Amino acid sequence: MYQEYFNEDHRIFRESVRKFVEKEIKPHVDEWEEKEEFPLELYKKTADAGLLGLEYPEEYGGIPCDKFMVVAFIEEFIRHSGASGLYCGLYSHTIAMPPVRGLGTEEMKKNVLAPVLRGEKVASLGITEPNAGSDVASLRTRAVRDGDSYIVNGAKTFITSGCRANFVTTAVRTGGPGPKGVSLLLIDTSTPGFTVSKKIHKMGWHSSDTGELSFVDCRVPAANLIGKEGEGFKGIMINFQNERLSLSVQAHATAQLALEESIKYAKAREAFGTTLTGFQVIRHKLVDMATKVEIAKEYNYRVAARMEAGMDVMREVSMGKNFSCEVCDKVVYDAVQIHGGYGYAREYVVERLYRDSRILSIGGGTTEIMKEIISRTI
Ligand SMILES: Cc1cc2nc3c(=O)[nH]c(=O)nc-3n(C[C@H](O)[C@H](O)[C@H](O)COP(=O)(O)OP(=O)(O)OC[C@H]3O[C@@H](n4cnc5c(N)ncnc54)[C@H](O)[C@@H]3O)c2cc1C
Repeated sequence: MYQEYFNEDHRIFRESVRKFVEKEIKPHVDEWEEKEEFPLELYKKTADAGLLGLEYPEEYGGIPCDKFMVVAFIEEFIRHSGASGLYCGLYSHTIAMPPVRGLGTEEMKKNVLAPVLRGEKVASLGITEPNAGSDVASLRTRAVRDGDSYIVNGAKTFITSGCRANFVTTAVRTGGPGPKGVSLLLIDTSTPGFTVSKKIHKMGWHSSDTGELSFVDCRVPAANLIGKEGEGFKGIMINFQNERLSLSVQAHATAQLALEESIKYAKAREAFGTTLTGFQVIRHKLVDMATKVEIAKEYNYRVAARMEAGMDVMREVSMGKNFSCEVCDKVVYDAVQIHGGYGYAREYVVERLYRDSRILSIGGGTTEIMKEIISRTI
């Protein structure tokens, strides 16, 4: 089959991801979604299957690979699990660890990155605060230098894997107002003064825990500073394009699954003496869904190809994220409509896809923030 972006290695890899997800995840995913958590052993199982450390250096237990392996991985994971929330929980290190990989010391890489990639420890990224979301530069969590330590006081909210994390890559204010006063500190959650103040119950992404964190006089070794003081924004920016591509792919993969489920359902469900596909209005709805998914997917592949070529894609990835998330919202809406009452029932995966879609245009930079970025380039 003609494939512009994927080769035989990607095809074989897809097959191994499918097998892993079908064996280790699919039979349990409904229960984990219901319980709002998945077992810690899953990190280890995923690492042992060679699927936790994609794109990280081998010396820390990672698996170096190209962008299309990551794209293929996300597509297969979502297609066979039907749970982007589980993906985000299990892979919270993909947003927490890039600053460590990029700016961290050798010690951090050995003592934190390596155990995280082995599935023994969990890592979170703590940037958002109750009063600072999109406006990251106004964050207030303060870290004051005291000898060989920083004393940290403040709060974080909406932190993925925050309730179970061993390490939080935390954005703190070490200097004056604005982005230049922000630094990144790696905080061990066993530090006295660190508490999970709340587990947040959400509309979707149920199996992924989302925590509100509190820091009261947390004494953190100065050696845990990631990069230099004032380099917090640099550290945060390292992964923006990857995170946004990941969310774009999650969106087109979620939409693709909703489309496939809708085609299956429309072929089987009967009404007025025909299957639903006997109605032109349903066929056209499916065609519109398929067209949107195809275009979103192709555009995301093109963005991935440019990233793979080392190009700056800040504008394209922002456009891709907005487009794919809008496509996903529309496709999951229509998928529920085609399923009728069954689309509103927990037993049908489109019900979950509908709820899970809503976060994609909020996390990793909202639609409006993406538009602000794009508007500066046109
Ligand atoms: C399930 C979930 C998981 C998350 N995981 C993490 C995580 O792991 N780590 C982490 O640090 N954060 C995480 N977040 C937080 C997420 O990144 C923020 O919710 C997001 O950045 C938006 O911030 P906010 O919620 O404070 O909304 P606000 O920034 O208050 O925005 C509210 C509304 O105002 C709009 N708005 C804001 N500024 C502008 C502007 N300049 N122009 C036009 N419109 C604007 C926004 O687009 C939005 O519609 C998570 C959130 C959720 C819900």
